[in-house]
Amino acid sequence: MSELAYPYEAPASQALFDRAAAVTPGGVNSPVRAFGAVGGTPRFMVSGSGPYLTDADGREYVDLVCSWGPMILGHAHPEVIAAVQEAVARGTSFGTPAEGEVALAEAMVERVAPLEEVRLVSSGTEATMSAIRLARGFTRRTKVIKFAGCYHGHVDSLLAAAGSGVATFALPDTPGVTGAQASDTIVLPYNDLEAVHAAFAAHPGEIACVITEASPGNMGVVPPLPGFNQGLKEACAANGALFVSDEVMTGFRTSRAGWYGVEGVVPDLMTFGKVMGGGFPAAAFGGRADVMAHLAPAGPVYQAGTLSGNPVATAAGLAQLRLLDDAAYEKVDAVSAQIQSLVTEALGKEGVANTLQTASNMFSVFFTDRPVRNYEDAKAQESFRFTAFFHSLLSNGVYLPPSSFESWFVSAAHDERAVQRIADALPAAARAAAEATA
Ligand code: PLP
Repeated sequence: MSELAYPYEAPASQALFDRAAAVTPGGVNSPVRAFGAVGGTPRFMVSGSGPYLTDADGREYVDLVCSWGPMILGHAHPEVIAAVQEAVARGTSFGTPAEGEVALAEAMVERVAPLEEVRLVSSGTEATMSAIRLARGFTRRTKVIKFAGCYHGHVDSLLAAAGSGVATFALPDTPGVTGAQASDTIVLPYNDLEAVHAAFAAHPGEIACVITEASPGNMGVVPPLPGFNQGLKEACAANGALFVSDEVMTGFRTSRAGWYGVEGVVPDLMTFGKVMGGGFPAAAFGGRADVMAHLAPAGPVYQAGTLSGNPVATAAGLAQLRLLDDAAYEKVDAVSAQIQSLVTEALGKEGVANTLQTASNMFSVFFTDRPVRNYEDAKAQESFRFTAFFHSLLSNGVYLPPSSFESWFVSAAHDERAVQRIADALPAAARAAAEATA
């Protein structure tokens, strides 16, 4: 495997990784970046331009991660950079209200109809954590339903995995999360409305909210079955709970109005991050005005942030949203479709079992011939084939997410040249996947 897996060296990245490991746990500031699932040397990037990233060894890659979603216009878009430079020159943080945060909130509210009010924060984790607190404060209930395979950031109560069976109380997924924190979380199989109804029946008057990824991308791309999100909304309404749709990944990516714009199911609360920050730390939660009115200082539920609504981040986010018109989404959708068919064609030619799943322009490949409806299905794939596929593409200048449980992301900057480079690299990668052994 190792011959196939790492057919090249990255000495400058390796040297940086060694330096990093001496001062940072595992050498990275977010675990997936360490290449733990695929092995090899994580690439330390020094610059990005359009659809390309350049690493410390001077190698260029077509980027299919796009910073895990935010860079939907490509790297270093000139108009976003200009907006950032203009904002930076006026100062980097005031600790007071400023017009930029109002303008960004207005732009979001204008695009996403269920968003009557928003509160800006700095990360998706903060957004979901605050939305859950607000849901609990509003309903005066404690329990939360989440779905196995859905990731909502590293919020204590949401870092919980399902036990077997339906409506199982969660066990903490990591040391540091207490049993008490996890015990208010009910983890259910994704796409299973029966399990949701059973959980509401088992806990009358106790469930504050159901939180779900609007269309999950954190177990690979596993879109909701028709009627699933609507069913969640109805179950919540019937039981006095709030329906929280996590659009951190899908928001302003899967359409102008995110996954809401695709499906039209109206949540009570929504969470955002990634695209709305233009590559800077900006995120948000919002929704029904009567619920948001419970938030401090208007109401009793406390929530705050030194850098919330930061003027540089809001300038970047606003510039990016303004550039994201219908034509930009058409471009992203078209290039995504093009890459999807190149991938299935290459894998098909080599007889590699694969299921490509999409949620608008988000997509991922599962190395299995069965449809993937939930986390258990996703885990049943042959991930060892992904490892070989990943390293072959990396060695030929294509940067995929370093895990088979992640969405791939493209941008409006992925042009013909970038697509051609992917097309050129795919046959060898498909062969590597075909030849891989567990
Ligand atoms: N929610 C979803 C759906 C996400 O995909 C993520 C991050 O990938 C988060 C929340 C957490 O966002 P952040 O990494 O900005 O804390």
